[in-house]
Amino acid sequence: MKIVQTLEDLREERSKMTGPVGLVPTMGFLHAGHISLVKQAVKECANVVVSIYVNPTQFSPTEDFASYPRDLDRDAALLKEAGATLVWAPTDAVMYPSGYQTYVNVEDVTKVLEGAMRPTHFRGVTTVVAKLFNAVQPDKAFFGQKDAQQVAVLSRMVKDLNFNLEMVVCPIVREKDGLALSSRNTYLDTAQRQAALVLSRALRKAREIFINGERESQKIRSEMEKIFTGEPAAKVQYISIADTQSLLEVEWIETQALVSMAVYIGKTRLIDNTILGKPDPALDKSSGLVL
Ligand code: AMP
Repeated sequence: MKIVQTLEDLREERSKMTGPVGLVPTMGFLHAGHISLVKQAVKECANVVVSIYVNPTQFSPTEDFASYPRDLDRDAALLKEAGATLVWAPTDAVMYPSGYQTYVNVEDVTKVLEGAMRPTHFRGVTTVVAKLFNAVQPDKAFFGQKDAQQVAVLSRMVKDLNFNLEMVVCPIVREKDGLALSSRNTYLDTAQRQAALVLSRALRKAREIFINGERESQKIRSEMEKIFTGEPAAKVQYISIADTQSLLEVEWIETQALVSMAVYIGKTRLIDNTILGKPDPALDKSSGLVL
């Protein structure tokens, strides 16, 4: 496994690759969620490129860009072990050299949910991912369902801008007790880590009542809200029940719906989601999850 920084070195390594190329974009500080994407990519592609880049344009000035955890040496060891072929860890000067002025913007699907709370976020995500796609020229790109709106936005971009690649979406990896893995979990102290279980508890409740026949979004949302009432350390920013493609809110669930949420535990903002009407083994009863 090689590690490169510059665009020239990346292109040289890419030109030597034969067979399918998979790309796994990350911001580093890798955990088992990231590694599950890499392992899926290794299964499907002869070559697996992992990008590690904390992209400044997707953070607002009040967010955690400066404090976002970074550890390239540890990441490289984990990626080597997982079977990645190449790591691309560009600098800001490589990605946004002086004079940079081009951005990619996806319209409607970026205006709701995370986009409503973080208005400049997806413009940064689509811009950097379009640059990664252009540079790496992958056949397949691997993303986590953990960032459900990111998947919807990038899938739209791939179609609209004719990127010649397949988007592969991998399931959310959770701790045994239900907490979705996230690099931001490192901000939580022991009590907050315990309080953070309320997110998966609420999702599990939503799944239970949906499976028992409830189709009215408001009823499902109010059951979830009750669960949050029992956890004073959690401040809910939004709970959404939305169409899985447009991400617009639905009042009544016909077949499937995305239940997603953003919740503050102290200063740490956590997101989580599940798709009702689709199996979610890590959340359903048979998983043996301790909730
Ligand atoms: P990030 O480094 O947070 O930008 O995440 C890089 C990729 O890993 C994104 O496609 C995320 O959706 C995915 N990811 C992050 N956490 C998880 C998780 N717990 N399970 C599965 N995929 C994840």
